[in-house]
Formats: sequence, structure tokens, C-alpha cells
Amino acid sequence: MEKIKMTTPLVEMDGDEMTRILWKMIKDELLHPFIELNTEYYDLGLEHRNATDDQVTIDSANATKKYGVAVKCATITPNAARMSEYELKEMWKSPNGTIRAMLDGTVFRAPIIVKGIEPCVKNWKKPITIARHAYGDVYKAAEMKIPGAGKCELVYTAEDGTETRELIHDFTGAGVIQGQHNVNGSIESFARSCFNYALDTKQDLWFATKDTISKQYDHTFKDIFQEIFDAEYQKRFEEAGITYFYTLIDDAVARVMKSEGGYIWACKNYDGDVMSDMVSSAFGSLAMMTSVLVSPDGNYEYEAAHGTVQRHYYKHLKGEETSTNSVATIFAWTGALRKRGELDGNEELAVFADRLETACVKTIEEGKMTKDLALITTHTNPIVLNSEEFIRAIRANLEEQYR
Ligand code: NAP
Ligand code: MG
Repeated sequence: MEKIKMTTPLVEMDGDEMTRILWKMIKDELLHPFIELNTEYYDLGLEHRNATDDQVTIDSANATKKYGVAVKCATITPNAARMSEYELKEMWKSPNGTIRAMLDGTVFRAPIIVKGIEPCVKNWKKPITIARHAYGDVYKAAEMKIPGAGKCELVYTAEDGTETRELIHDFTGAGVIQGQHNVNGSIESFARSCFNYALDTKQDLWFATKDTISKQYDHTFKDIFQEIFDAEYQKRFEEAGITYFYTLIDDAVARVMKSEGGYIWACKNYDGDVMSDMVSSAFGSLAMMTSVLVSPDGNYEYEAAHGTVQRHYYKHLKGEETSTNSVATIFAWTGALRKRGELDGNEELAVFADRLETACVKTIEEGKMTKDLALITTHTNPIVLNSEEFIRAIRANLEEQYR
């Protein structure tokens, strides 16, 4: 067959350890044979980040703003152990944090559903996508231990010096106190990213806070979402046949458990932290979770939700066989290629993305899978493949669709 052409480059962010090994295998086996791959390549591997004083991360985020679509491999976030392992000049910041801050984006995480890997919640039939607000609240809070009796107040000093005060508590003994904040601009960006992504994926959007108790703080989140929805999105949601649904967080949790899935659940920062771990573990495996960063002005960065799978990489370095699941990384590529195809009106490219996803799902449903899935599958006789064999099995199912 003639290779599929691409008109606009995709921003390619390479990464670290086992996922870097999978990255190359995926390109060699599943992409290059079918596509004249057109990417602008940024090496976000830790060695190159260190060599460029992390400038490469900034350059890759700027390229994402320029072209609109990126695909990213998992990367190491340095800690003390990595400082000596890689002889780092500095403990560089998390690339994901840097990119997210530059794009002002929201991360959407969704499970990949296949027969044979069943969610613990038996009525969940479709993916539940979690959108977590990534700024403020308890993550940027100021805290104090109160040693004994005394008064605590919130004080706002305006630029002209005028003060507004609100009593928090008149302590009669020791206690604790915390001051949280958020900013309207960040909440607005969060809301727009969520509404845009709902339109993009044609899924309902749910949002929940505790506005009955938090009449100023959480209520502001509720109001901002509603105002933006009414002014900018209501009509487009109607046309797309999807709904925006607001409820209280405790009601949302109860409804989620009884639902069959198939919607986006927007969460405040803390709710998203907790609920994304609950939802992803209930769906089965971190290796089957995709993640996309969506900016309010419509830039997209796709990746797997898991890390660099360090333990497998050290086995690989010792020449031992690995059985690392490449599905979430492949879906990062298909997400990016499909989006590129949609934006460029390149239907062949979007169809390729669909077919590659179908090939992955079919391979697993045929019982061919990596070890992580074999441990949790309901298949009676799974065939456990190593990292390369699994990708080759997917290739066979992909080629079949082009015959
Ligand atoms: P991890 O890479 O997600 O792996 C944790 C464990 O989960 C693995 O040891 C493996 O379990 C299992 N696992 C994860 N992905 C798998 C896959 N695709 N196939 C099979 N098993 C898989 O997390 P980590 O080991 O805590 O972190 C390693 C590095 O990744 C760290 O340097 C961290 O900074 C980085 N990280 C990056 C990102 C990102 O770039 N988005 C996200 C998270 C972490 P078994 O060992 O039991 O087989
Ligand atoms: Mg968490």
C-alpha cells in the first residue's frame, strides 16, 4: 500500500527508560510502515533535558502551541536518586508540570475498554473520563498549627490598603488552620477546556462541588462554569446532542457508581486526585489509561497515564525479557494522529488511528496480551507475550485491515 501522507507535523516528545524503548518499537513496527511520519522531534529524555538546561521542554511546549497537537512519551521526574544516576546539574522540574503550566491546560484521563479486562464495578460499560483542575485549593494552601487560645481571621488587603476581615475561629485551645485560594482565570480555563473536550468527544460533562456548604468558594466554581456554559456553549451542546450536568459532589459519587459510564467528570483539584486513582484502579490497569492535556484555546498533548516503567527497563538493560504493555502509549499516538487528521481534513490519517486502536483491542480480545493484563483477565487461556511479540501481534491485526 502507498504510505499515508501528513501535511502538518506532529510535535513528538521522546522520553525515558522502558517507555523510550517501546516508543521506538511502536514507530518502527506500527507507524513507519504505514505513514510517512511527519514529526518535529524533541528529545525529552532526561540526559537531553540536562544537556539543554531543560530548554528542550520549553521548546517542545512552544511547538505544541504552534502546531496544536503533540504526542509525549513518559519521562522521569528527577528526585535525589536520579540526581546521582544521571549526574544532573539540577533537579529539573517535572516536564508534565512545565508543559501544563505553559499551555494552561487540563488533563483528561480515560481508560481503554476491552473485553476480558472487566471493571470491578460491573455496571460500568463505557469509559469514565476524569478531568482534574490542576491549580490551587489544598495544593497551594497555607497552613498553621495553632498552639493555644486566640483568634484567627481571613484578612484581604486591597491595593489601596483597605482591609476586609472574616473571623475563622476563636480558639479556646490548640488547633490547626488552613488558607486555600483559587483564581477566576484558572477556573475559567478549566471550564473552557472541559466544555471543549466534551464537544470534541461528544460526551456529556458532569461537574460537582460542595457549593451548599462552601457558599463563596465552591459556589464560585459552580457559577463560573454555568456563566461560561450559558454564554458560549449551550447552543453547541444542544447541536451535538450532549448535556452539561451540575450536581453536589456526594450526589455525583453515588451516581457515578450506578452509571454505565460514557461521560466526562470534571473534578476540583483534590476530588480529581482522589477520584482518578479510584476510577483507574476500578477499570483494571494503569497500563490501559490514556491521558490528554487540553488547553482552553484548543492545543492537545497526548500521552499514557503511566510512568517510564523503571523496573522493566532495568530488566531490559540486563538482557532479560520484558512483558511491558504498550497499549496506552500506542493510544497516545492514535489520539494525536486522529486529532491531526481531523484538523488537517486528512481522513486517511484519522482512519489509520481508528484501525490501529481496533488492532490493539482485537489482539487482547483474542487472548494475546502482556503479563500485567494476563494477571487480571477473565480470559481462561491468555497467551502471555513479551514486549516485542505483543507489538508484532498488533501489527498483524493492523495489516489485516489494510489488505
Ligand atoms: P510507573 O512507571 O507507572 O510503573 C509502576 C509499576 O506499574 C511498574 O513497575 C509496573 O508494575 C506497572 N506498570 C506501569 N506501566 C506499565 C506498563 N505499561 N506495562 C506493564 N506494567 C506497567 O511508575 P514508577 O515506577 O513509580 O515511576 C517510574 C518513573 O516514571 C519515575 O521516574 C517517575 O517520575 C516517572 N513518571 C512519569 C510520568 C509521566 O511522564 N507522565 C507519570 C508517572 C511517573 P510491575 O513492576 O509490578 O510489573
Ligand atoms: Mg493521586
